[in-house]
Amino acid sequence: MNEQKANIRYSPSPESTKLSACPVCGSASIKEFFHSKDNFLSKCKNCHLVFSNSVPTSSELMNFYSQYPRYTQTAEVVIRNYNNILDGLEKYRKTIA
Ligand SMILES: [Zn+2]
Repeated sequence: MNEQKANIRYSPSPESTKLSACPVCGSASIKEFFHSKDNFLSKCKNCHLVFSNSVPTSSELMNFYSQYPRYTQTAEVVIRNYNNILDGLEKYRKTIA
């Protein structure tokens, strides 16, 4: 198997959007939870969700995923395992007559 190793990191840029409301409950009552060079975590005071508060731009996403390793072949063992799982689920399959 040909494995690519990549050092993939996302570093927010000044163009990244910072959320002003909790992505789950929508509360605007959020506070900074943790802040480092690459991480901007906020915590919602309403539902206590801790979330990454840096929304990448489209170009940042394109750049990040362009570095992600791509596998062009699926290993035989993976295909065999998927087929075994599908065979096990076959008895629950319903078809429209
Ligand atoms: Zn919330």
